[in-house]
Amino acid sequence: MSHRTTPLTETLHAYLLNVSLRENPLLTQLREETARLPEANMQISPEQGQLMQMLVRLLGAKKVIEVGTFTGYSSLAMALALPSDGCIVACDVSEIWTATARRYWREAGVCGRIDLRLGPATETLNGMIQQGSSGQYDFAFIDADKTGYADYYEKCLQLLRGGGVVAFDNTLWHGKVADPAVHDEDTEALRRFNRALHSDDRIDLSMIPIGDGLTLARKR
Ligand code: CA
Repeated sequence: MSHRTTPLTETLHAYLLNVSLRENPLLTQLREETARLPEANMQISPEQGQLMQMLVRLLGAKKVIEVGTFTGYSSLAMALALPSDGCIVACDVSEIWTATARRYWREAGVCGRIDLRLGPATETLNGMIQQGSSGQYDFAFIDADKTGYADYYEKCLQLLRGGGVVAFDNTLWHGKVADPAVHDEDTEALRRFNRALHSDDRIDLSMIPIGDGLTLARKR
């Protein structure tokens, strides 16, 4: 009987990947290219990408929002799991990082499924709400500035349909959220955010210890 999560040692993690990872070769290539950047730790793990593809398929998602695109690994993974008439609104502020993303989207033939919006995500999401898109989205993935999570969450929750899911990356924040000695702005923001979600009765909640922590909130 197991009543807690099995600790993921290097060996067990390698085993998990070995027997379950089905990574598209372009995703592998993009991951390897991104790993050479100084910001490489901002990229999600491949098993997390595969979980998000599973979520997209389980939800039968057609309309997806991504806040924080970076070099495009998660958007490419999700786009590959979407039906041909599916669409991701991908929000980021960096022309440079998303240039890499666009190159891979093109090569994978999924450009038509990704609508890149360069600019502050709050403005993009507000614009979508003003244009009457509330209640229309199936899935949202938030992986951007941690002090912005609470705001992105409110906007995405409004844009999601009932039963839609919003996923938040880095909610375990390399363990810092549980370390009382750490008080930097991002850690405090994530602590407040995690606590607020816990008591939020608009959603069903699950915090998954994959990657750096992935929290799922299903709109009731
Ligand atoms: Ca992240």
